Amino acid sequence: MENKIMRKKWYSILAGGCTASLLLLSGCADTSKTTTSAPANSDNKIKIVAAENFYGEVAKAVGGNRVEVTSILDNPNVDPHDYEPTAETSKLVNDAQVIVYNGAGYDAWMDKVIKSSSSASSKSAIQVAEDIMGVKEGENEHVWYDPTTMPKLAIKLADDLSKLDPIQKEAFNKRAQSYIKSLEPLKEKVQELKQQSTTNIDVSEPVFDYMAKALNLKVNNSKFARAIDEGTDPAPSDIAALQNDLNGKKVKLLVHNTQNSTPVVDNIVKLANSNSIPIVKVTETEPKGKNYLQWMVDQLDDVAKAIESK
Ligand SMILES: [Zn+2]
Repeated sequence: MENKIMRKKWYSILAGGCTASLLLLSGCADTSKTTTSAPANSDNKIKIVAAENFYGEVAKAVGGNRVEVTSILDNPNVDPHDYEPTAETSKLVNDAQVIVYNGAGYDAWMDKVIKSSSSASSKSAIQVAEDIMGVKEGENEHVWYDPTTMPKLAIKLADDLSKLDPIQKEAFNKRAQSYIKSLEPLKEKVQELKQQSTTNIDVSEPVFDYMAKALNLKVNNSKFARAIDEGTDPAPSDIAALQNDLNGKKVKLLVHNTQNSTPVVDNIVKLANSNSIPIVKVTETEPKGKNYLQWMVDQLDDVAKAIESK
């Protein structure tokens, strides 16, 4: 019970306080039960903050009931590239023992928040892109679209959590293994869809690129995509090349990151539509109501449909 109330309180902090409907749904104004209760961490759970919700999911899966996980970026309507941390974020990070974030410049705000935290040196901070996938700043930072990333992260988390709670080592390892096993359908889907010969595609920005590579789909407009990712204007020659791809039907599909759209991208999507080039919609963050596996598999199903269509 204690634990449930705690989570509700955390939720209300994240949601920016109590609204009337939240109050009814979650009872988050019911503080009378918590004010006299034991100190917040009396249950000794390891507090984990994940910058992105897909990493928070792995932390929950591996940590089980030994951890309390909060994900910062979990709104599919917001572009995570533009996120600004709040005072609540700083507090969550300050109180956490383990931080999981992407790194490689994707969520540089987290570096600053950790640095300004009073207990920075005692925290275990995992930068998935750099520490696990060897991706440096300036390279494509969207490593969660690489189907090999989450299994590696699960193992790393089991190791780090075991250091904090050695008695639970076996349990952490077991849960990591069952999480990895649960991702088997994704591995199978990738194998199933992997193209025999290189197939050209265009993308609105690079979020999907690691998955495209795993499927043997070649991104034909990397320079355009990088400009959109960096928030700059693509060069006119790169826009022209992309228009030429679409008008000449030289690509099998267009991947559209709906969380990072600009007027230039909108025009490209329209042009793809008018040329009957299939569009596969993807997002940066895990959509509400789906876990990582469902999210990825659903997107791959859309890729399959696009490839099959004439
Ligand atoms: Zn992005």
